[in-house]
Amino acid sequence: MANEDALRLLCFIGFFLLFLLGEVIFPRKKSFIPKKKRWFGNMALIIISQALIPISLVEASVIFKNKGWALLKDCPLVLEIVILDLAIYFQHRLFHKVDFFWRFHSIHHSDLELDTTSALRFHPGEILLSWGIKLILILSFGISALGIIIFEVLLNTSSMFNHSNLRIPRFLENILRVFIVTPDFHRSHHSMRKNQLNKNFGFNLSFWDRVFKTYQKVSYEDQERIVLGLVKKRDIKDQRIWSLLKGPFY
Ligand SMILES: [Zn+2]
Repeated sequence: MANEDALRLLCFIGFFLLFLLGEVIFPRKKSFIPKKKRWFGNMALIIISQALIPISLVEASVIFKNKGWALLKDCPLVLEIVILDLAIYFQHRLFHKVDFFWRFHSIHHSDLELDTTSALRFHPGEILLSWGIKLILILSFGISALGIIIFEVLLNTSSMFNHSNLRIPRFLENILRVFIVTPDFHRSHHSMRKNQLNKNFGFNLSFWDRVFKTYQKVSYEDQERIVLGLVKKRDIKDQRIWSLLKGPFY
């Protein structure tokens, strides 16, 4: 295994366990569904998705380096990461806007509760589509291998953090959400209500939603009243791995 893959895996496991422990000690919302009903499907999806990715983005960037595609050569590392984060924000909006993409992304939204494992719950079709979009971006802009590694670690970590059921003190949450996407910031994006579902698309920086007018703040008290999931998929059977896999096709 290459060093960068080992580093990514180590960060992933470390933060996964940290957020799981955090949400057990400081839970934000009460859980009503047995974990085993959701966790198997959520974790199986990421294992299947990872097995299907043909080549890592880092390997692709190394193979295609100096092939003349790069629009931004010798771009500062920070700018590379900001560009990728902005791209992910618009990709997320695209996945809500276009029916074909929504069929896949809706599997992520059909989770009836949110916790750290929800960050793993993406249909393999969405992972492959997202991989293809990121590959085009990386090759077009000439994003460095280091930029990709840092961004992927950041994206995985922030995604587990903002899907977690971690209770953050109100004063701290108010400060953090100015800069980054917090669990309270992202939770309303998983609301059953459409006016909340189509807001707060950011994954890392909370800045983009404010700039592009998709930001919505749900009060600390109203967070308790958010009903998570989709209107049409309320049955516990919809959480089974086979239902999740065939979801986009019926
Ligand atoms: Zn979404």
